[in-house]
Amino acid sequence: MVKVLKVNPIRPEAERIALAARVLKSGGTVAFPTETVYGLGANCFSDSACSKIFAAKGRQPDNPLIVHLSTIKELPMVAREVPTSLEELLKRLWPGPLSVVLPKRDEVSQVASAGLPTVAVRVPAHPVALALIREAGVPVAAPSANTSTRPSPTRASHVIDDLGAKIDIVLDGGEAFFGIESTVIRPSGSGVEVLRPGPFTLDELRKHFGTTIVAESNHPSGAPPSPGMKYLHYSPKKPLVLAGSVECIKALNAELTKRGLISEAICTSDQVQGLAGPTRLLGSGKDIYEVAKNLYSAIRDFDQGSSDIGIISAFPEEGIGFAIMNRIRRACGDRIAEHPDQVKKLCDLLDSSRRGSL
Ligand code: AMP
Ligand code: MG
Repeated sequence: MVKVLKVNPIRPEAERIALAARVLKSGGTVAFPTETVYGLGANCFSDSACSKIFAAKGRQPDNPLIVHLSTIKELPMVAREVPTSLEELLKRLWPGPLSVVLPKRDEVSQVASAGLPTVAVRVPAHPVALALIREAGVPVAAPSANTSTRPSPTRASHVIDDLGAKIDIVLDGGEAFFGIESTVIRPSGSGVEVLRPGPFTLDELRKHFGTTIVAESNHPSGAPPSPGMKYLHYSPKKPLVLAGSVECIKALNAELTKRGLISEAICTSDQVQGLAGPTRLLGSGKDIYEVAKNLYSAIRDFDQGSSDIGIISAFPEEGIGFAIMNRIRRACGDRIAEHPDQVKKLCDLLDSSRRGSL
């Protein structure tokens, strides 16, 4: 069973960090908080250590890991041919929730990079993550510390629920700050391509990198630009549907109740008035960062609760809202009612997939 070590998120205790770092150095796995979500780390130079991450998560071997550094000075240990102008920019933007795909050095495990000639790299802005990587003395490959396909963990308890029997240590530093995984970009032409939206927003990317294109998962060439795009992600086990407005939530709830199903609205305190049935709050609609922080734990709690179907509300796709909607859309798949007149059709779809799984 995993060893859980509580750490102060701002001033982590040196002896606890040292213990976890020893485990990393000797080829083990350590889950730790970052400013985005909890990561599951291993020595990025060791094939066998990185394989343990894939085994614990049940992650597809062609889905590469992000390598975490404690300072930009470590960048030459993992990446080649970084243009000086890009390095100067990253000196200003790191630590932060921005991962950059760069040509990889041979020393980085092929297991971590899933056989690609590139590696995604970032310096996380979290005292526990930085102290751990610094003390381990090696860059740390770390995907989100959840079972593959499930919502990412924003608390140590989520990591323990998913991976408790499969990893060595969890550093419990409380809640992750943003609650949404890092933005992933790669240099493209005179600007960047966004492989995964995140807390580092499109506006910030445009400001610093110029032309910013959001990659489409259904790429015309057939192969998605980032392997992670093709896999189911962020999903609860129970069906979750996306409602385009409060009217849609109400119409869905009424229709599902008619069909004998208990639905639960996952929404903000501004939207909850007048809704029938159980509700689960994401915070105030006035603070979109609160919504980001609560999103995955709300989806996990819904999954463990007693309702049959979750109805999650849509958010304006601005700032971090763009990343929130990217995750919600992937969690809901094609189960969407943008307008109340689409509700009946969606409920028929839910009925037929329920019958299929009976
Ligand atoms: P996770 O580690 O769970 O946060 O997921 C990392 C994401 O970054 C996945 O969607 C990966 O497919 C993507 N990624 C990591 N390395 C690369 C790379 N070298 N090229 C393109 N995408 C990458
Ligand atoms: Mg992940």
